[in-house]
Amino acid sequence: MRKPLILGNWKMHTTPAEAHVLARELVHLLHGVMNREVAVAPPFTSLAAARAAIAGSDLRLAAQDLHWEDRGPFTGAISHSMLEALGCVHALVGHSERRIYFGETDHLVNRKIHAALRGGLHPVLCVGEEEDEREAGRYQEVLVRQVDRALEEVASGFATRLTVAYEPVWAIGTGRAATVHDAVDANRIIRHQLELLWGEKPAAAVRILYGGSVSAANAAGFASHPEVDGVLVGGASLVAAEFAAIVRAGW
Ligand code: PEP
Repeated sequence: MRKPLILGNWKMHTTPAEAHVLARELVHLLHGVMNREVAVAPPFTSLAAARAAIAGSDLRLAAQDLHWEDRGPFTGAISHSMLEALGCVHALVGHSERRIYFGETDHLVNRKIHAALRGGLHPVLCVGEEEDEREAGRYQEVLVRQVDRALEEVASGFATRLTVAYEPVWAIGTGRAATVHDAVDANRIIRHQLELLWGEKPAAAVRILYGGSVSAANAAGFASHPEVDGVLVGGASLVAAEFAAIVRAGW
């Protein structure tokens, strides 16, 4: 059985002091929550503060990105082992904001997946089509390409460490979440592609989340569908009560 994952992406928000307060609030609000994994992804500079705040709780830490090499002359970059040393369990890879604003290609996404798996991290691969691609009916082609390229030369034995998040670009930060129907449709396309790559059993082990304008108001719809293994939450994860309501929405 796949354990649902609810992951909050704090993006470029929170100083260490703010991250500490937010993480403490979450620990308090999520006390006693069972049968699902909850993680937060603060900016790199707030990881240590968040780690201290969640110590002793079931909350987990995630990184928003990582570099594709283990070490070296890459000014400003952070490696998987640095993140592991700070207590990160998961790492987002290929978030659309990285692809759009930082020029991250499918090739780099693939290298980052390999780096995460070389270390001890659990990559959360983000895939999703742009609005014009959906309107042109090309979303399936985009999802297949992004999954295929991201997982090039990745062995099926890593399936249990992989999460995929379907994040349509047009839904991120817009308040226009995909319908549950569209999220399930995309998740099926992704799982089918994983089956073609790795076979049915490994593919069945991969969690597939939905992300894009998830809120306390719409979370229950996603939570009620067995093919949505959790959510990746941006804006709403910055408000402790809202994020806690999403976590408690079901699953
Ligand atoms: C995200 O950043 O992954 C995201 C889904 O953002 P939002 O929830 O704000 O749309």
